[in-house]
Amino acid sequence: MDPNNAAIPAEEDKNRHDGEERCRVIIRLKPLEKGEKEGPMRVEGEKIFVPGVQGTPSRRRKGGDDDDGSAFHFDQVFPTDCTQEDVFQSVLQNSVSYVLEGFNATVLAYGQTGAGKTYNMFGPPGGEGLDDQDQRGIIPRALDEIFDRIERDQSGSSFEVKLSMVEIYLEELLDLLRPNSCQRLRLRESVYQGVWVEGLSHHPIASSRAALELVLDGMANRTVGATNMNDASSRSHCVVSLRVERATQDGVVQSGVLHFADLAGMERVDRTGAQGQTLEEAKRINLSLSALGNCIGALSDPFRTHIPFRDAKLTFLLKNSLGGNAKTTLLVACSSRQRDADETVTALRFGARARAVKNVVRVNQKLCAQELQRLLDKLQEEHRVLQGYCLALEQQLDAAHSKENATPGGAG
Ligand code: ADP
Ligand code: MG
Repeated sequence: MDPNNAAIPAEEDKNRHDGEERCRVIIRLKPLEKGEKEGPMRVEGEKIFVPGVQGTPSRRRKGGDDDDGSAFHFDQVFPTDCTQEDVFQSVLQNSVSYVLEGFNATVLAYGQTGAGKTYNMFGPPGGEGLDDQDQRGIIPRALDEIFDRIERDQSGSSFEVKLSMVEIYLEELLDLLRPNSCQRLRLRESVYQGVWVEGLSHHPIASSRAALELVLDGMANRTVGATNMNDASSRSHCVVSLRVERATQDGVVQSGVLHFADLAGMERVDRTGAQGQTLEEAKRINLSLSALGNCIGALSDPFRTHIPFRDAKLTFLLKNSLGGNAKTTLLVACSSRQRDADETVTALRFGARARAVKNVVRVNQKLCAQELQRLLDKLQEEHRVLQGYCLALEQQLDAAHSKENATPGGAG
């Protein structure tokens, strides 16, 4: 590793290597509002207890910490008084920072409607939240961090960053950065490229500010609707993607894709009061989230070979992040209110299951044409030397045989 390269943190860490890696699951509890009654759950470090509810199945843990299975275990639990920066730092250290080194990373926000998914990903409602230093969410912070690291890079690498933003609404894919386009986007898949959205616009960006403005445009085009649970509830899944390509001075091109998925919330139609179009939206949202649950269930079962990614656009789009080549963090936004206790337990169960999903991560790296030519020349030269060596050995062998044959009493 180049010690002069300020883009790469100096300390060695085990997450920087290729190999199998578990999906990280973090929980964020939303603070209560005035007059709201607190639910019965109790937080102890990375564990959450809900009275009368069985948590993660019991198992003997390393270090002899044997528990009775009453707790849900996670990688990190953020209590109600945590800050947006606390959550961002956790996500940064485990996924976002690796995208500049050619790893793929995905951050998925999951949870009940109104529990804080969009707040965690973007910030408070309305675009101005993206600029508020305290309140801004993971995406604006990640954009700042990425461009800051690029600016500080002293390795002589060149970088190219492209941003895209797609929405899944009523099982249709829409380009949020080309809202007037009537083109229906399709998901495509190939062995070499994995899954991609055909026809989606990818916008080159040169600064965090430019990226943020694009994200603001995209957010304004997102489909939201008012339900009883949340005045500006997202009625769609939204995925913001950044492709970061880094060309080093020695001709290596590393490319990492960072996905931020702000999912629509699972809805209990009896509580949201959905009717007509809103009811149709809720049905589609719930179906695609069930498909996500089924994929996670199948991926966490070592005996299952078929993973039903194609059951929904959401799971097909996220295929690479679920058991594939990506450092995946699932952020479960949870309400801490008494009246949401059932939904919170459902979300905790979902999160606990996702911890069993294993991805296989590797650096996406290729060599540029000049570097490939240089390697080819070198191999051809080695090949020429070895051919000469073989010829010389064959000549020696022939000479040895002739000598043996010429010797009386020799071979034969
Ligand atoms: P979701 O996307 O899960 O439906 P939102 O992110 O839209 O929910 O959050 C609903 C409301 O709660 C918004 O007004 C948001 O600003 C507020 N909110 C969510 N989480 C927090 C939090 N951790 N701290 C303060 N306000 C929050
Ligand atoms: Mg939302």
